[in-house]
Amino acid sequence: MIDIFKELHIKGWRRTYPLVGKPDFVFPKKRVVVFVDGCFWHGHDCRNVTPSANADFWNAKRDYNRKHDQIVTETLIKKNWTVIRIWECELKKKNREKLLEKISVIIK
Ligand SMILES: [Zn+2]
Repeated sequence: MIDIFKELHIKGWRRTYPLVGKPDFVFPKKRVVVFVDGCFWHGHDCRNVTPSANADFWNAKRDYNRKHDQIVTETLIKKNWTVIRIWECELKKKNREKLLEKISVIIK
C-alpha cells in the first residue's frame, strides 16, 4: 500500500493515529481513514478461504471480524471520517483500477 501511495504521490498519511479500529492509514487533513483488510480474516469472497478443518471455528471468527469492521466503520463515519476499506487482493496489479476508484478521494 505504501508503494502505491508513493507511486501516486499521495502524501499526508499517518501510520499510527489514535482512532477507533486502528486504521492502517489516516489522512488527518482530509479526514480519511484507510483500512487494508486481509481477505482470509475478514471474510472476503474473492476465493475459497474456508479451510476444510475447523470450518466452524473460522466461520465464527470471520463473522466476528466482519461485525467488528462494520461497527468501526459506522463509528468513524459518525465522527465525520471518510472510511475506505481495501481488500488485500485489491493491492494486486491486476486490480489496480478498482483500487484507484476506491482511493480517488485521497488522490485529489
Ligand atoms: Zn479478496
